[in-house]
Amino acid sequence: MSERRLQADIVVVGSGATGMPAAIVAHEAGCSVILVEAEADIGGHAITSGGNVPLGGGTSTQKKFGIEDSPELLFKDLTDWSVVEANGFPDYRYNDRQIIRAFAENSAPTYEWLLAHGVVFAPKAPDQRGGGAIGNSVPREMHAVPVSWPLVQTGAPAAPEERLSFSTGNGLMRPLEKAAREGGVEILLEHHMTALHREGRRAGGRVTGIAVEHRGERLDIAARRAVILATGGSSGNVEFRRMFDPRLTAEYCGLAGMPWSDQDASGELAAMDVGAALWGLYNHVGEFGATITKPGRIGTQYGYVNLHWQPGSKVFHKVRATGLRVADWQDVILVNMLGKRFYDETGKQFTANNYNMIRPYVHGHWLNAKTIKYDPNNWLNAAMAGIGDSENGGGPIWAIFDADAVKREKWDPRPPYVDFAEGFCFEAGTIEELAQKIRMKHQRVPMLPEILAATVSLYNNFVADGIDSDFAKPKPLYKIEKPPFYAAWATPVVHDTRAGLRINAQCQVVDMKGRVIPGLYCGGESAGGFSQHGLARATCQGFIAGRCAAKENPAS
Ligand SMILES: Cc1cc2nc3c(=O)[nH]c(=O)nc-3n(C[C@H](O)[C@H](O)[C@H](O)COP(=O)(O)OP(=O)(O)OC[C@H]3O[C@@H](n4cnc5c(N)ncnc54)[C@H](O)[C@@H]3O)c2cc1C
Repeated sequence: MSERRLQADIVVVGSGATGMPAAIVAHEAGCSVILVEAEADIGGHAITSGGNVPLGGGTSTQKKFGIEDSPELLFKDLTDWSVVEANGFPDYRYNDRQIIRAFAENSAPTYEWLLAHGVVFAPKAPDQRGGGAIGNSVPREMHAVPVSWPLVQTGAPAAPEERLSFSTGNGLMRPLEKAAREGGVEILLEHHMTALHREGRRAGGRVTGIAVEHRGERLDIAARRAVILATGGSSGNVEFRRMFDPRLTAEYCGLAGMPWSDQDASGELAAMDVGAALWGLYNHVGEFGATITKPGRIGTQYGYVNLHWQPGSKVFHKVRATGLRVADWQDVILVNMLGKRFYDETGKQFTANNYNMIRPYVHGHWLNAKTIKYDPNNWLNAAMAGIGDSENGGGPIWAIFDADAVKREKWDPRPPYVDFAEGFCFEAGTIEELAQKIRMKHQRVPMLPEILAATVSLYNNFVADGIDSDFAKPKPLYKIEKPPFYAAWATPVVHDTRAGLRINAQCQVVDMKGRVIPGLYCGGESAGGFSQHGLARATCQGFIAGRCAAKENPAS
């Protein structure tokens, strides 16, 4: 590795939705930029994402379709105290006003910047598809399309008829990678930042660079102007996430976006080591949005509903199984580690505010919160409630079904669709034998055959009667009686991080005394103070951080 590679004006950590824009913007402002990425390919969770990008505030596309939006309206939407979910949790009440103001002012400019850097959006009006906490007033969701870029999920380009309609993060990240590489950003793959260097911390000294681990070798990379942390959050780090919610123990091992990239909290931990504060912690535990989700695919470790890994993907050897997509939760019962049902299987996960979710809506009006019909979606809370002992965490959740369900759902419960080898799916000739077979690292107590058999037998009686007397599942439809029988992993899936490092409007990281840490910036899921699902806040904060960091005076 040459000397040139170990020093730059700006060092960006992470090549996802925040890091890639930050690197390009800083480079185009005249800075030399090194971008380090822990994984063997760029993109982070952003490239695996649905590519639904809610940038608004008056974009050219909103104007083209006659949608009246402005930075002021966006700011008001994302700070409206009166918007609550059906369970009473408010989406926007705890957002940091300065951070939201900066987002509102820079949202439309970020959108135009993405267009100018090769991102193609579906040629249609903004809508609300795929959004979470994007504001109630107007549609803002745009959809990045793949054109002919290969998809990381399949290894192949999208079908020709879908190339301008299928929304995917591949269509966001590959054009940005091209712009970065062609522009001269130096991208170092398989370089995992392990620490930040800061001089004279007590005297308010600046961050001067990072330590990196590369294939077992340690390197130091100096940053003459600034380091930008774009490390994508902390939800994959069990001990870190349990500071927010003690229930989130190790069995929640199917992080959405993994195994393409992790959210190991390395950015947060390195910044905290040099004095950084955390911010907006309520946003991570508020029961709305997608910080934790009900799985949509069963029988695989990675069951996030909107991420369909297939054998052509270059990470499929880590994924191991595509999972079985559940079309109708009437086709299974869901049981905990003991083999007992715990909730109506058709129950839903938490919801999030989006365009037109509250009708009629008047900004900041007390009636918005008052007229919401209280109707909590508590499947997740019941799944994470545990088995009544003194251990935290709900343990594995298993979908139990029979050969008839396989036929109805048109499943093929064999590899590569399910993961028998690592214990995420089991098959047996009787229910009792099935319970005995469930042995895997997260099943910390054995499932007793007689308990599972009693659960199935009672459920079959509910089907005969047409009434679920235990959990009021709407008219239970199908008995579980035809062998072979299956137990498929259906444990909740950890997803977004919505709390992280304290930043200000310029995306500068702030310490425990409220002072800026000179030379350190952060955005996206590793930054706190802004509760919104994903790509808009990440790309916009990357845009802001890159521009502001480039204005730092170089260290002499
Ligand atoms: C399956 C899925 C679907 C989604 N769909 C949508 C959607 O449709 N719309 C939406 O708005 N949001 C969506 N999201 C959320 C969105 O993708 C993320 O919020 C967004 O990508 C976060 O951007 P980020 O830059 O913070 O992190 P990421 O995009 O994850 O990038 C972080 C990068 O940093 C790297 N990194 C981490 N630590 C280190 C280190 N120590 N050293 C070097 N590199 C490091 C990681 O490997 C990763 O590449 C989705 C997420 C997933 C997983």
